[in-house]
Amino acid sequence: MAFMGKIVAVDVGGTHLRAAVYEPDNTKPISHQRVETHSNEPGVYERLQALVENIWPKNGGVDSIGVASPGPLDPHTGYILKTPNIPEWENFPLGPDLSERFKVPVFVDNDANLAALGEWKFGAGRGHHHVLYLTVSTGVGGGVIADDHLLQGYHGLATELGHVIVDPDGPPCSCGFAGHLEAFSSGPAIVKYVLEQLEAGATSDLKRDPDLTPRHIADAAVHGDALGIAAYRRAGEYLGIAVATFLHAFDPSIVIFGGGVTKVGPLLFDPFHASLKKRVFHPRYLENLKIEMAALGDDAGLLGALALAQISL
Ligand SMILES: [Zn+2]
Repeated sequence: MAFMGKIVAVDVGGTHLRAAVYEPDNTKPISHQRVETHSNEPGVYERLQALVENIWPKNGGVDSIGVASPGPLDPHTGYILKTPNIPEWENFPLGPDLSERFKVPVFVDNDANLAALGEWKFGAGRGHHHVLYLTVSTGVGGGVIADDHLLQGYHGLATELGHVIVDPDGPPCSCGFAGHLEAFSSGPAIVKYVLEQLEAGATSDLKRDPDLTPRHIADAAVHGDALGIAAYRRAGEYLGIAVATFLHAFDPSIVIFGGGVTKVGPLLFDPFHASLKKRVFHPRYLENLKIEMAALGDDAGLLGALALAQISL
């Protein structure tokens, strides 16, 4: 539906809270501000409210607020259920509180869903009606656009794609359950695998360093380090297993990858493609399937929140 007024978009990130004001039909904000989140310190909501107060247009005219937040959350009520990223937000009425303070409708969804929505409306997924978005970084998250609709689910918990089981006997995931995609393909999972292999006596240029990062491992792999190569091969292979399942479930015309781990290129994507091809049960899924990198970068959260407010009004 068309909207006439301004929209305030908010992105609750791990390091920064960002807010921006958008005018109709323009993805360049008329103003934009950010402050540090300090997610482990009290007062995250107060900092967020002050940020929105600061950016609120003096002449008003705001129709709604869209918010991208870490989940799990309930997009139907705007409550944050419990998020490891912000300990004080447990069963927290983020949407209702903002709505009461600013007297406009507030729409909330998790950052991965909104990155998917933003990429579909403004980024790499434009023109597609069926989009699968995956972000692979410190965690693995996802979102799905099916028939031009963001899939949210009955409880608003649909498409937690990092937490699908790719091996029931696999390593523990950050959520506590075993064998999820995130436990194989996230940055911390890649590091953990390398440290375990080093401990078991694998030869490598990599050292058992607590500060080891996925980037170090990628650099070693590019220089021919067998353990580094194996770590990304494993991550890519399980990513392929998961994406084959997602194709079977959602049959998208484009798969969009975001997140730092996906920036390593062939190290991850060669084994990914080989694995995907092997696991898709009918070649038809791969016909004309586009696999592309996300286009919105750091603005994915804000533009996703903008898109959510636009489609929800
Ligand atoms: Zn999990």
